[in-house]
Amino acid sequence: MKYIDLRSDTVTVPLMEMRELMITAAVGDDVYGDDPTVIKLENMAADMVGKEAALFVPSGTFGNQLAIVTHTKRGDEIIVGSDSHVLMHEVGAAAVISGVQTRSIDIIDKYMDPLKLKKMIRSKDIHYPDTGLICLENARSDGTVLSLQNMMEIKKVADEFNIPVHLDGARYFNAVKALDIGNKDMARYVDSINICLSKGLCAPIGSLLIGTKIFIEKARKYRKLMGGGLRQTGILAAPGIYALENLTERLAIDHENAKYMAGKLNDITGINVYKNRLDINMVFFTIPEDILKGEDLITGLLKKGIKINGSEDGEYRFVTHYYISKDDIDYVIKAVIELIQ
Ligand SMILES: *Cc1c(COP(=O)(O)O)cnc(C)c1O
Repeated sequence: MKYIDLRSDTVTVPLMEMRELMITAAVGDDVYGDDPTVIKLENMAADMVGKEAALFVPSGTFGNQLAIVTHTKRGDEIIVGSDSHVLMHEVGAAAVISGVQTRSIDIIDKYMDPLKLKKMIRSKDIHYPDTGLICLENARSDGTVLSLQNMMEIKKVADEFNIPVHLDGARYFNAVKALDIGNKDMARYVDSINICLSKGLCAPIGSLLIGTKIFIEKARKYRKLMGGGLRQTGILAAPGIYALENLTERLAIDHENAKYMAGKLNDITGINVYKNRLDINMVFFTIPEDILKGEDLITGLLKKGIKINGSEDGEYRFVTHYYISKDDIDYVIKAVIELIQ
């Protein structure tokens, strides 16, 4: 049975074109620097965002944590968004791997207040840890994007104190499309970026950590330390190349489909869509329990061939991607209406 899977854009399976490229990919031992397909992917990614170098890593979590360990020293404090993936969904890895403590900053109405950020940066005091890194996330996992202007303001504060900025750009190209800017425009305001190939870009595995040559050289050694030195990785890099060449522009279609679905969902009595969080391929909404119980929604939709996640803090999240068409959305809307009636 073919499911309509709205749980995440991570559910996207590789396209047939990707699988064909995997079969014929030129490969070598990447720990020796011998894999031409990996080298091609890394150079292509760095060029696309206007940075010097890139490194293929197994996952987005790996890329973020590798960035943290490379930028900081043990005992540092890093400043992260209070709802960020790095803080909320990476198993406390920053404490375990890098030995850093996190200090969280609230992002309110798609805005990180640079003055608030400035106040959080530690002065030289014998009691204080050093502020070693500022982590941003764009696009954000709550469906919104930070403006370019805001990123510029943050970078300005960071530069004043000589603190590097890392961007968790798991959905970097979603943010680029949402802001209608060039691929390089956002990268300018950060020192390193993590970009996931395996979300909306449909590759089976992998992320890219991107930054200066010196930073990536240092990260390469830490990647080995963390067990991420892979061998004939060209097989995995080949679909990544296909994704960067062919699938970044079409993310705009996922955004359009999310807005289409949001409009239809919001028309259903009782459903409340968060209309100010429709910047990318995600729709957040609530359904009061007296209209439809959470478990009835989940099991009811599953019976109709639709997979969704349970609510988090009362919010549902439906995610559009390569395998979700407008017809699929119409079918989902019909199914939700049937369950409510
Ligand atoms: C998915 C995601 C990650 C981590 O990616 P994994 O490959 O699942 O480890 C990091 N940051 C954000 C914002 C994400 O959405």
